Amino acid sequence: MSDKPISVGDLVMVVRYMDCGCNLGNIGTVIGFARIHRDECDDCSTGSCLPHSGDGVRVKDAGGIARYPMEWLKRIPPYEQLKHFRSEELLRRDVKEKA
Ligand SMILES: [Zn+2]
Repeated sequence: MSDKPISVGDLVMVVRYMDCGCNLGNIGTVIGFARIHRDECDDCSTGSCLPHSGDGVRVKDAGGIARYPMEWLKRIPPYEQLKHFRSEELLRRDVKEKA
């Protein structure tokens, strides 16, 4: 995984959330930054052990647009940056060598 900071256009997963866990595991794209204050879940109105005030990001996912503190998110690196990524060209060469 890269240590590059989260920025607009990145794919991210929600890895921390409030007690209810409603949005935990959601995957979306960062579309901007925002000042946020969160002390209850937008979906179920449950209070939280993780209140947050300050800088955050806006994320578009399958359910719509939500705002999260950056520390609640984990960046998912582009496929090409994954440790075991093999380009299509290398995969074709592998197949030829085995044939
Ligand atoms: Zn909830």
